[in-house]
Amino acid sequence: MATFKDFRNSVKPNWCPGCGDFSVQTAIQRACANVGLEPEDVVIVSGIGCSGRISGYINAYGFHGIHGRALPIAQGIKLANRNLTVIAAGGDGDGFAIGMSHTIHAIRRNLDITYIVMDNQIYGLTKGQTSPTSAFGFETKSTPYGSIEAPVTPLELALAAGATFVAQGFSSDLKGLVHIIEEGIKHKGFAFINVFSPCVTFNKVNTYDWFKENLVSLDTIEGYDPTDRIQAMKTVMEHKALVTGIIYQRKDIPSYEERIPGFKDVPLAHQDLRLSEEDFQELV
Ligand code: SF4
Ligand code: MG
Repeated sequence: MATFKDFRNSVKPNWCPGCGDFSVQTAIQRACANVGLEPEDVVIVSGIGCSGRISGYINAYGFHGIHGRALPIAQGIKLANRNLTVIAAGGDGDGFAIGMSHTIHAIRRNLDITYIVMDNQIYGLTKGQTSPTSAFGFETKSTPYGSIEAPVTPLELALAAGATFVAQGFSSDLKGLVHIIEEGIKHKGFAFINVFSPCVTFNKVNTYDWFKENLVSLDTIEGYDPTDRIQAMKTVMEHKALVTGIIYQRKDIPSYEERIPGFKDVPLAHQDLRLSEEDFQELV
């Protein structure tokens, strides 16, 4: 059986020392091993950005796609080979700017894949511009007088789009991150995982210390029920999305694949995908 070391390769990441993405790389490697996967069972699909390099840094199948397009590629791979564990990964710019529509539609479609966003509230690869998750007033080269745009709140977005698994981690909490990714991989449907992954070079506001001061673990909220969507949305809004843990999970909603008659038994290319009147009735 593979250990996390089997998911390592010889490529040296060229992330800056201290970049939060190192923890995400380690967490994926550990989570894959912990759930009993072999490197040949896994494909990592990424977009463009510092975080997009992750597909080259893990010993598994990898596909480094174009900007914002990790999710269409990941969904295509899953439909073509249902036996693969598909993990899509990218940054906040990749997933919530150019790739935003793919994110929303992939969430509501609910294919059985895991999507990890390394959210550092900035564009790192292009040397520090405001991103869709940058806060009001955030000063960068592209907003020298402070951002005047309302930021995207990924957790609210995912809940509103009908996600069946929503979680948030923090690069400094490796144990928590591994747990969340394990549960995301095991989830039968689309698992949306936002990770606060600090950019130590360009974001001098949302630092490790800032997150440590501001994040609240859901474990500390008494009676929190992750199957209650209203409570999930309320909690996220009350804490300005600065929560960590599994925020919402529904195990009783069928994945996209489970809605395709025969998908489990017959390769996609050999299937008659026309739905009968009865099949449609079951879906609605
Ligand atoms: Fe990480 Fe920022 Fe360096 Fe990119 S620029 S590798 S996001 S620390
Ligand atoms: Mg970013």
